[in-house]
Amino acid sequence: MGLTIGVDIGGTKVLGGVVDSAGDVLVQTRRDTPAQDPGETAGRIIDVIKELAASHPVDAVGIGAAGWIDATRSIVQFAPNLAWRNEPLRDKIVAAVGLPCVIENDGNVAAWAEFRFGAAHDADDSMVLFTVGTGIGSGIVIGGNLIRGAHGIAGELGHAMMVPAGHRCGCGRHGCLEQYASGRALVRFARADARERPEAAEQLLNLVGGEVDKIDGPAITQAARAGDPVAIAAFEQIGRWLGVAFADVVQILDPQVIVVGGGVIDAGELLMKPARASYEEQLAQRGRLPVAEVRPALMGNLAGVVGAADLARV
Ligand code: BGC
Ligand code: ZN
Repeated sequence: MGLTIGVDIGGTKVLGGVVDSAGDVLVQTRRDTPAQDPGETAGRIIDVIKELAASHPVDAVGIGAAGWIDATRSIVQFAPNLAWRNEPLRDKIVAAVGLPCVIENDGNVAAWAEFRFGAAHDADDSMVLFTVGTGIGSGIVIGGNLIRGAHGIAGELGHAMMVPAGHRCGCGRHGCLEQYASGRALVRFARADARERPEAAEQLLNLVGGEVDKIDGPAITQAARAGDPVAIAAFEQIGRWLGVAFADVVQILDPQVIVVGGGVIDAGELLMKPARASYEEQLAQRGRLPVAEVRPALMGNLAGVVGAADLARV
């Protein structure tokens, strides 16, 4: 198979590209995602695919979507943070563009891209990816294969319970990892801390005109880089929970590599350092046994496009 199209659907944008078998993106395009309207979102995806298909001859389309996909890779059954409920996305797309199409979870496609072409390309067997963004996405590769599970929804590590009776999650449970280690959790931690000790959050508050409710991810990253204690502590909090999740993954799957991606990873060591420290602390009882190395993702915001396009190929 020659060229394929990969499309990554996020909360705010639809990003698509024509990708070759080496994982290189030949051309890309994007559209804004209309807020919470599954029908219109499908329309934007179709626009993106038509534009790309007119630019190059392509054989198939792969789509990464932030939801729980069915076993036949056709339907977005549920999305904790989006309005999709039993959305027959594949049929709509096939009808509109006339190309074979697979739908896959966004964490799964990003994991596949990092395994094939990115941070875990030297791993020949296994890796687990966590993406830290609005939610926590994840994907598992074992024996060189993406693990999809019996019903298509394996690898939803963001919804593993960390805190019994903790914060309510969009998935319906309480205390999920996503509520403690995502970009949203980062903001929640920073706002609460800034309210409690505004004097320590001076730099952070200066960036948002003194309004705690305006504290967002980019402001926290900027303030943390400048040494703001509240912003740094917020990264330490989510890092600590991520480290716990990495250790759990080692106990369950013992992969070769754990990769951390998603928008929040732009903060670099501000997140990676506390995450690694917590991971090591959690695994202390394993002494000097070899365990998965934790690495930052390499594919940036094209991971979804490249992974989805590559999965459309097989
Ligand atoms: C969803 C996942 C998705 C992740 C990142 C989570 O809330 O359950 O399916 O991969 O968010 O978008
Ligand atoms: Zn959840």
